[in-house]
Amino acid sequence: MRVLKKFPRPYTIKGQLHRALLWITFIIGLCIFIPTLYIEYRQTIQHQNEEMTHYLDAQTYFFESWLSERSSDIHTIANLDFVKNYNYEKSQAFFLDFKEKTDFTDLIFVNKEGIVQFDTVTEYSTSGVGVGMDVKNRKYFQVAKKTKQPYITDILISKVTKKPILAFASPILNAQQQFNGVVFGAVNLDTIDQLLHESRVGFLGKAYIIDQNGTMLTDFNSKQQRTSSNYLVDEHILNAAEKNTISDLELYKDANNMRVLAKSKPINEGKWFIISEIGLFEAYQPFIIRILLITFCLVVGSFFTIKMMLHLSKKIEEPIQQLLTGVRKVEQGFYDYQIDEQQLAPYAHEFQELCSSFNEMSAKVKTDTILLKKLSVTCQLTKLYNRRYLIEHGELVFQKCLEEQNHCSCIAIDIDFFKKVNDTYGHLIGDEVLKHVANIITNSVRKIDIITRYGGEEFVILSPNTTLESAVKIAERVRKHVEHHPYYADDVEINVTVSIGIAGYGHSKNISTFYELLDKADQALYIAKESGRNQLRVCDHTGKVDTNQIL
Ligand code: GH3
Ligand code: MG
Ligand code: MG
Repeated sequence: MRVLKKFPRPYTIKGQLHRALLWITFIIGLCIFIPTLYIEYRQTIQHQNEEMTHYLDAQTYFFESWLSERSSDIHTIANLDFVKNYNYEKSQAFFLDFKEKTDFTDLIFVNKEGIVQFDTVTEYSTSGVGVGMDVKNRKYFQVAKKTKQPYITDILISKVTKKPILAFASPILNAQQQFNGVVFGAVNLDTIDQLLHESRVGFLGKAYIIDQNGTMLTDFNSKQQRTSSNYLVDEHILNAAEKNTISDLELYKDANNMRVLAKSKPINEGKWFIISEIGLFEAYQPFIIRILLITFCLVVGSFFTIKMMLHLSKKIEEPIQQLLTGVRKVEQGFYDYQIDEQQLAPYAHEFQELCSSFNEMSAKVKTDTILLKKLSVTCQLTKLYNRRYLIEHGELVFQKCLEEQNHCSCIAIDIDFFKKVNDTYGHLIGDEVLKHVANIITNSVRKIDIITRYGGEEFVILSPNTTLESAVKIAERVRKHVEHHPYYADDVEINVTVSIGIAGYGHSKNISTFYELLDKADQALYIAKESGRNQLRVCDHTGKVDTNQIL
């Protein structure tokens, strides 16, 4: 109880164990989860970065090779003899055949004046849009004429197909290496788009090419590209591409307003950028799956850990509870309370030891308590009950008689001139005389009479269910026995007498407590002493002691 007052919260072992194990599980869970989360996140980002770099490298390699192959195709065509010699018939046949076998959508022959001589599309068209067209002011014609080197154009919108095209121009040089015209090959960018689409990252990823102005050169299937042939990407996408982030991934919203991770690489001598994008959810999907799996494992692990620890705490708490019950029982005065050792058999060995020690202790406490109790109410010298016993039990015995409307008598005995015995024979002999008188009293009364050594050489007999007449008889017997049985110390005869006062409930009506009964007996004893000793006196029905008469 004192502990509860000091700590108002009930700190039970069970509560503490449960709290502790919840905290332990939570902390261990966090210690596993947070670093795993961090490591997994880093690994996912790193993996995504590596994968996108790998794809970008492959796409760049593919695209650069493709550009150089197409450029070299046109260059080879421009150097063919029948092309150089303006053999239109043969050249046209070759152009048509070559177009069928390659990615080129159109091959155009331009003479040195910049006039289109023939092309592979208008040959079969009724409009004949290209033939005779003057292209001398076009950049590709002028660059090819000026540099006498192959040239790759920016994205152009084909006047014939109205689709974005990429054009490869190569000068036709005569035998003197003089400019003699241009062979011009157009490629529909759908081809590149298709190839980029096939080599995208993930299922929903995207790869496309933009130029330095942010114009999308591929991805013609996207909503924006369908509506506008020169669709510009948002500035933040162009900025991210220009940062040329080789090592880091960029996070931004793409043209469809979806959050994506992106990586870019410059191609075509830095004129364009190839951009690879992957949706954030798809990029983090492996990470999310792994984290969900780890969370599931942690939850299952925690569940079983908590279950196991609850079982363990039960194994600690239950025997402690039983020991506590035992201690409380002893505290309540059940000194011989024994804990059932069989019940503690399933618990730890230490608890069984504690239990048997407790049982031994409680058995010993019981024995010692009984002994102590007996000692505390027993006179060491005479082995009679002492004054404490009379005070504690006298009232109970008296009240019981009262309840049962029975008589109850009290006899107060005092040895006459005992001081003289001590003075004459010494205290040791005095003690022996006391023992002698105690024995005589014990042998002169009945079993139900309670004999006590009330003080030094005073004795009190409490006689329950005993009338005053009977008490007088008992007292007279005591007096006579003491008078006629002297004590012999060696050869010395020591005669002692006793004076006796008697009171009885039932006779003296104004007595309602044992204390009053005892007081009346004592008053009667006083009168007996006053009257000359070695005699009885009785407290009469009025509560007064008859100084002459014995009842
Ligand atoms: P009275 O007839 O008036 O009772 O005279 P008394 O001498 O018996 O009475 P008093 O009260 O003057 O003396 C009692 C004596 O009893 C005094 C004390 O030394 C002695 N006494 C009390 N207890 C013991 C004891 O345990 N052993 C011994 N040897 N003497 C005791
Ligand atoms: Mg006395
Ligand atoms: Mg005396």
